[in-house]
Amino acid sequence: MGRFCRADVLVPARHQRSRPLRPKVLITRKIFKESIAHVAKHCDVEINQRDTPLTPQQLIKKLQRKQGVITALTDVISESVLARCPDLKIVCNIAVGFNNFDVKAATRRGVMMTNTPGVLDDTTADLTWCLILAAGRGLIDADRYFRSGKWKGWGLMQFLGHDIHHKILGICGLGRIGARVAKRAKGFEMRILYTGRTRAPQEVERDLDATFVDKQTLLRESDFVTLHVPLSPFTTHYISAAELKLMKPTAVLINASRGPVVDEKALVKALRDGWIAGAGLDVYEHEPRPAPGLARLKNVVLAPHIGSATMETRLKMANKAAENCVAGLTGRRPPNLLNPEVLKA
Ligand code: NAP
Repeated sequence: MGRFCRADVLVPARHQRSRPLRPKVLITRKIFKESIAHVAKHCDVEINQRDTPLTPQQLIKKLQRKQGVITALTDVISESVLARCPDLKIVCNIAVGFNNFDVKAATRRGVMMTNTPGVLDDTTADLTWCLILAAGRGLIDADRYFRSGKWKGWGLMQFLGHDIHHKILGICGLGRIGARVAKRAKGFEMRILYTGRTRAPQEVERDLDATFVDKQTLLRESDFVTLHVPLSPFTTHYISAAELKLMKPTAVLINASRGPVVDEKALVKALRDGWIAGAGLDVYEHEPRPAPGLARLKNVVLAPHIGSATMETRLKMANKAAENCVAGLTGRRPPNLLNPEVLKA
């Protein structure tokens, strides 16, 4: 079978023979068997069994004569990829973020694109809180110290972190995930500031006890700044040197959105020179590589892009992508269609 394995063995051969015009779908990364089985009921499926990204050339080659593809955020579906895959009808990301898609180009070419909103909000908010707690209290550095055998017993002045309770949490982007982060902050009796493109409805603000402020005010006043904006040309380097300089020297920056939202080189300087106290990151500007010097700093917690990585949530995400794909290829409207204009056309 080599590197690629035909999953149409999941479907009895007689069934396949009786339906020769089944759509063909590529799944670009390793995913759950039950998500594959759902697609394989309706389509012939080819899977990249190796859990590494395909190069653009491999992707284009594999997409010849395919009508559907289930992608990960590591697959870039650009205008040039779309141009070279003329049979493609639907592209289904297993992610809520879709900055790896050129949605406008897909719309021009009549290709549907989908994502997986709603099923990962709580899980990503939990991970955001892991980062807030770990970075605020220096947990990872303390763990490393303990494991090294250097710890000689309790000391009043050891590993002094920063309180989290009763502090100010600044949320950039009070969308689905940002709101779940805010909800959890109530338990820590924090004051919540938020900023973004649009102000949330009054009932949301009241429910979350969240105050809308401009970006500068949020950066100046918050003890923890957490980023939940999508990556777009407007949010690339949303936090760079100027913004980091506005933050308190005791503040902690959390990023569980997308890496390029933060100018990572500037962040390394800010952490090294004490412009801010710490950071907790789940995402990086040039994944999988951190900016030079980042991984040597003690005041930063580094997670390998695991925001939605729980068994339950990743399964829901993969199933959602499978549902979108099957719907699109069997003449139904995909539940999470990003470019409904395609259907009108
Ligand atoms: P969402 O519901 O669309 O929320 C995004 C928020 O950002 C909204 O409040 C939106 O405002 C605001 N926003 C958009 N563009 C902005 C801009 N230019 N300036 C300021 N605010 C802006 O999205 P979500 O589901 O919460 O997800 C947010 C992002 O998290 C995703 O796009 C994804 O990249 C990332 N994510 C990461 C992980 C991970 O593994 N670390 C997991 C899941 C998601 P409007 O109301 O005006 O649109």
